[in-house]
Amino acid sequence: MVTLGFAELLCESERYRFSRCFFPSKVGGAPVWLIPTAKVPRVCKSCKASMRFLLQMYSPGDSIDSFHRTVYIFLCSSKNGCTEPPLVVRQQLSVTNAFYPEDPPSSYEDPNEAIEFEKNFQRQTMCAVCGYPGKNRCAKCRNTFYCSKECQLAHWKNGHKKICNAQKPDTAPSNFLFDEYDLVSEEFDDKDIQTHKEFEEDDGDEIIDFDAAQAEADGIKQTFQNDDEPELRDEHKDDAEELVQVNISTLIGILKPLSVFLRLSH
Ligand SMILES: [Zn+2]
Ligand SMILES: [Zn+2]
Ligand SMILES: [Zn+2]
Repeated sequence: MVTLGFAELLCESERYRFSRCFFPSKVGGAPVWLIPTAKVPRVCKSCKASMRFLLQMYSPGDSIDSFHRTVYIFLCSSKNGCTEPPLVVRQQLSVTNAFYPEDPPSSYEDPNEAIEFEKNFQRQTMCAVCGYPGKNRCAKCRNTFYCSKECQLAHWKNGHKKICNAQKPDTAPSNFLFDEYDLVSEEFDDKDIQTHKEFEEDDGDEIIDFDAAQAEADGIKQTFQNDDEPELRDEHKDDAEELVQVNISTLIGILKPLSVFLRLSH
């Protein structure tokens, strides 16, 4: 048995599935944090360009401590040939935790679950770029929120400038964020799996891989310095227990039962 991941476009009425209460797996858009108070480095270690969110996968473990577990992958957004490898971050929580009820949602298909959860959980505005709690409004439209001036600048330069006067929050993708897809998995018998070659011949579908994603990231103009970096580093220290950075080989170990292909099915 092999589990394949497919990237599927969600229409506006299905976007509630990206609520944290459903523990989403997704590609692109802003990350949805399992632990919204933890701090992940926002800038590249090597070149200080902003890190761009690629995907997250909910992959619960089999121990009490890893009852909830989500793995996140970020790419350096520099287009100046930065060779920093993808940043992989794992967040995990035990069954009893401060963020989610012990009982799972009664239905993963009901948008009201998401609305109720957000209402009862905590009311806070989230940064349109990095998905962290963000209280700073865009001074012009006053409808879009950011955690930092770095995120605001990235959003402004890469798309928000054009739609800033809209009357509702800017949830439209900026050029800074990758297009957003739901990452759904399906199980297949080994014999039913198409070969790589057959995938390529399948019309309308496109296989994306790290190199392609990195090439796309490199193709987008996006560099700026983060003046607040020392301060951010200090914040990371507090979250050391909640947040473990793992390298790609560890990630592959975690996801071994899942052979994941990213395949755009729309
Ligand atoms: Zn870099
Ligand atoms: Zn932010
Ligand atoms: Zn604005």
